[in-house]
Amino acid sequence: MGKFYITTPIYYVNDVPHIGHAYTTIAADVLARYHRLLGDDVYFLTGTDEHGQNIERIAAEKGVPPQEYCDGIVAKFKELWRLLDMSNDYFIRTTDERHVRAVQKFAAALLASGDVYRGRYAGWYCRRCEAFYQPDELLPEELCPVHKRAVEWTEEDNYFFALSKYQQKLEHLIGETDFVQPETRRNELMGVLRQGLQDFSISRERVRWGVPLPDDPEQVLYVWVDALLNYITAIGYGDDPDTFERYWPAEVQLMAKEIIRFHCLYWPAMLMSVGLAVPKCVFAHGWLTKDGQKLSKTTGNIIDPFELVERFGSDAVRYFFLREGAFGADWDYTDLAFVRRYNADLANDFGNLLNRTTQMVVRYFDGVVPAAVEWRDPVDEPLMEAASALGERVADAVKRLALQELLTEIWTVVEQANKYVQETAPWELAKGRKAGSEEAGQRLSTVLYNLVDVLRLLANCVLPVMPNKAESLLSQLGIGLDPEAGWATLTSVGTYPAGNRVLPGEVLFPRFDESALD
Ligand SMILES: [Zn+2]
Repeated sequence: MGKFYITTPIYYVNDVPHIGHAYTTIAADVLARYHRLLGDDVYFLTGTDEHGQNIERIAAEKGVPPQEYCDGIVAKFKELWRLLDMSNDYFIRTTDERHVRAVQKFAAALLASGDVYRGRYAGWYCRRCEAFYQPDELLPEELCPVHKRAVEWTEEDNYFFALSKYQQKLEHLIGETDFVQPETRRNELMGVLRQGLQDFSISRERVRWGVPLPDDPEQVLYVWVDALLNYITAIGYGDDPDTFERYWPAEVQLMAKEIIRFHCLYWPAMLMSVGLAVPKCVFAHGWLTKDGQKLSKTTGNIIDPFELVERFGSDAVRYFFLREGAFGADWDYTDLAFVRRYNADLANDFGNLLNRTTQMVVRYFDGVVPAAVEWRDPVDEPLMEAASALGERVADAVKRLALQELLTEIWTVVEQANKYVQETAPWELAKGRKAGSEEAGQRLSTVLYNLVDVLRLLANCVLPVMPNKAESLLSQLGIGLDPEAGWATLTSVGTYPAGNRVLPGEVLFPRFDESALD
């Protein structure tokens, strides 16, 4: 047993939450829930990034104070996380007083590190990106490469962080350790490092909505520095040393791939500068497209997470996004793929397995699960062996952050259990028993016990992904959730208490009508 500190990025409150935020946060939640079942001391953090010139501008356009604007968007994030059953231990906001105080402490340590100097910045600045660009990075006619809007020539006095001093240390961290995953992202960063690192300014003179520097309140800390620090201020940096020692460094920092430069270059260098450990792993997942097109609010090609949860429920959404695309790669979303996978994997394979099994227990044993008879038929072996190995396979995939793979592992056993029903044909055994065959009666008991027991094991394995459905499945099996039991017990075969009564209930995954899609 160890500890497991996992973070999502804190999401920028320039707009309401979108599917990308949901995707990252679902993955983090699933990992946090697995680690809790594995017995780890888990801390799962998410939150919002609320400072900077953009927020100042948007709030002004809406005619409200920035804090009031932020509060409104934050409420939407919190609502979505509640709808999606997020189990975060804390929700940090960069406007929290505690964060602001701790950021100032960090800034003071950074200023004292010898890595910060005052200089004059002159360069092309995009207000929307809140970032400076090199001339060769701009589109023709001085347009921002991201926003395709005019950048401004900006000159101001700023504090600079000597990132260039960390060139070798970062080359080692990124090139020689498992700090960055997956591999494609490491290669991208090695490319950046080969160009040579440039110092960057960590303060802004003309921004007001932010954290003022401790000794120079005319300067506000660069919004990215302020935001990155949430990962340590949330767990008590500068204010609660016991909790900070307990959780830092983070085991996994999850994010979408567009922000890895900040997290893999700026962030570790700043931590090294003040003598703190760097996170153990930064993992960047890929981008989603919809119907083969880039997601874009302007073209209306969006996947609305609120609407998805409304239509399919939280569990199915959580399942689909982890199962459909490899975690780390880019992949395409379509409504049709969602409905087909839902019907095939959940309604047919998993839901039917539960229905058939509980109905047979009711029909042949009045709802009381029989004990397995000692001897086993060779036809039992493939299922029981695969089920026995599942707990370890899932735990291994969790450690490798292979979220899609862990679901395919679980569904291999689901398929095998369905095959087992066909092969053992309990309805034929029931006829044999009725005709007086003791052997058929014993086989019927064994087969149904095995099916109930494997369903229990499957429910425990899928619990972190579909917490509500797994709990309802367990209660249909007449048992409850035992989160303290330990992973080995939860996933070992033969632990279902025979003599217990099943309680068949509502259809777990009602089929979704494909023709109802517009
Ligand atoms: Zn821009």
